[in-house]
Amino acid sequence: MVTRKSRREIEKMRTAGRIVAEVLALVESELKPGVSTAHLDRLAERHIRSSGAVPSFKGYGHRSNPFPASLCISIDDEVVHGIPGERQIRDGQIVSVDAGAIYDGWHGDGARTFIVGQPPSEVVELIDTTRMAMMAGIAAAVPDANLGDISGAIEDVAGPGGYGIVRQFVGHGIGTEMHQEPQVPNYRTGVRGMKLAPGICLAIEPMLTLGSGEVAVKPDGWTVVTRDGSLAAHFEHTIAVTENGPEILTTV
Ligand code: MG
Repeated sequence: MVTRKSRREIEKMRTAGRIVAEVLALVESELKPGVSTAHLDRLAERHIRSSGAVPSFKGYGHRSNPFPASLCISIDDEVVHGIPGERQIRDGQIVSVDAGAIYDGWHGDGARTFIVGQPPSEVVELIDTTRMAMMAGIAAAVPDANLGDISGAIEDVAGPGGYGIVRQFVGHGIGTEMHQEPQVPNYRTGVRGMKLAPGICLAIEPMLTLGSGEVAVKPDGWTVVTRDGSLAAHFEHTIAVTENGPEILTTV
């Protein structure tokens, strides 16, 4: 069931979203060669908790293999769900960071791909296109549009450049849980989908690659990589559909 959030509930999601945005800005300021991904994760967890929130990723998943950290940090051909550890960031890498926070029971979820050093222009274009695809999807999230309009807007930005669109992972509804209905695919599915209305909150999160878009999960049970080893980028905002159009909640 897709729930519509009240003004008061969206206000709490705005707080959760602000904390997520602050975490991503903090990571950006600390991201340089030689820094370990575990260090970035510790900074993130400290900021989330000192803001009165809880990291939503830590302990997420089945109890046999819960996600062990507050951030997902996915480097180069890793698409999403990379696990922070002692591995150090190197010059020329692209680093996708996904953060989630729960404030007073309400979730915020956001991600950005950062550049370390100066990768080739085609890599910069991949990252820019992924961000623009996300923004196009957000712009389509207006009352009386359909869910499929968001998917189509994302595909229209991603497709012409020949980028691979990851299909196995999609955007999602969000609120009192990180993942709620509906799913928000980053490509046209052939169905228009539900009608959007004020109060619907979504995480819109395209994942694009320089290759095919086919992905696999590594033996750790979490890290999603491109099957062909191509580089991947990921951007995500939590948004609310309002009478005045989309409002980005994961912002400062
Ligand atoms: Mg998400």
